[in-house]
Amino acid sequence: MSDLHTRQRRDSTVSRRGWLSAAGAGLIGTALSGTAAAGHTRRTDIDAQGRGNRAAPLALSEFEPKSMLHVAETHVARARFPVIDFHSHVSPRPTSTQPSVPPAEMVRSMDAINIRTMVNLTGGSGGDLVTTITRFDRAFPGRFVTMTEPTWTRAGESGYAAWQGDEIGRAKAAGAVGLKILKTLGLYLRDGGPTGKLVRVDDERFDPMWEACGSLGLPVAMHVGDPEAFFLPVDRFNERYEELGAHPDWSFYGKDFPAFADILAARDRVFARHSKTTFVALHVGHWSENLKAVGEMLDKFPNVRVEIAARIGELGRQPRTSARFFDKYQDRILFGTDADPRTVLAQDMYRIYYRFLETEDEYFDYAPSPIPPQGRWRIYGLGLPESILRKVYHENAERVLGVKLTG
Ligand SMILES: [Zn+2]
Repeated sequence: MSDLHTRQRRDSTVSRRGWLSAAGAGLIGTALSGTAAAGHTRRTDIDAQGRGNRAAPLALSEFEPKSMLHVAETHVARARFPVIDFHSHVSPRPTSTQPSVPPAEMVRSMDAINIRTMVNLTGGSGGDLVTTITRFDRAFPGRFVTMTEPTWTRAGESGYAAWQGDEIGRAKAAGAVGLKILKTLGLYLRDGGPTGKLVRVDDERFDPMWEACGSLGLPVAMHVGDPEAFFLPVDRFNERYEELGAHPDWSFYGKDFPAFADILAARDRVFARHSKTTFVALHVGHWSENLKAVGEMLDKFPNVRVEIAARIGELGRQPRTSARFFDKYQDRILFGTDADPRTVLAQDMYRIYYRFLETEDEYFDYAPSPIPPQGRWRIYGLGLPESILRKVYHENAERVLGVKLTG
């Protein structure tokens, strides 16, 4: 009995080989010449006997595998509910330059994909802030709202702490809806010039600024830290190897950079010290790779919210953990994308976010790019219920901003 099975298996192996050598060479040859005619580089070889394919060496950067899964593909043209994009950079820097895309053109694109409001985080300060608010917020009421930023260039001056605290009041009077903190704080800003000591995230000189935001009802959109892999050696074990290869300055490994955990600990001390200030920890609280830790942070600090920009690649490759996270923290998660004017006009990135949140599609690209820009993985949709979608798309952001923007 077992002999028979063995023989049958061997026979079928032989006959499959036979098929390959007789017909395979011709078929593969045809396929190859077709590919060559289409202008692609020849990547497979046939050996001297005309048997099989041998893969030629291939640079990782040229590898673009196409998924052979035949699974549902849902095209989500518009979000199911009006969207507030809490994380965008749509105004020009410096403000003296013309917008790369006229705001009116952006608004037309926003209408097409159901975005009600863009929260423009990097509005600058002083005169720059006024210019930005005039050009965007006042010209298109309800469609753009703008945040201010600390004046880092003055951080080394005496009297800075009090001045920066007062400056928040002036920014609010000019129309700012919040304060944005870039990862400048903790990773770039140094005392005493480029070789000076890095300024800590919880440095006391910013206390009046955090406090002013709390008493004036301005949320703080905070980006400190970065993906965990940016703090590790850029070697073959690093899951963001290609991304760090393309952007070497995004690596915070070595030198005098603080460890990832130290930055988050300093940030948490700020959250604790300023409990009446609302903080929105951008990029899923800077630790989308560890939703358990983000959940514990949220449990500890009721004054903190998170936002999902540029992290659906992390959320979407742990769909069951993410779905539980969205369910448990549904009142504290805000929609955001990190969009610039070009992304708003192109629209395709938004449709991926919508597909991720709204559908149960499987194994799709998290970015509109032939090679996944952050790392080589694909994502799975969460298929969130409508009640959670409404909160994430706009209700949570409206509560944080203290204003009703959607009709
Ligand atoms: Zn951003």
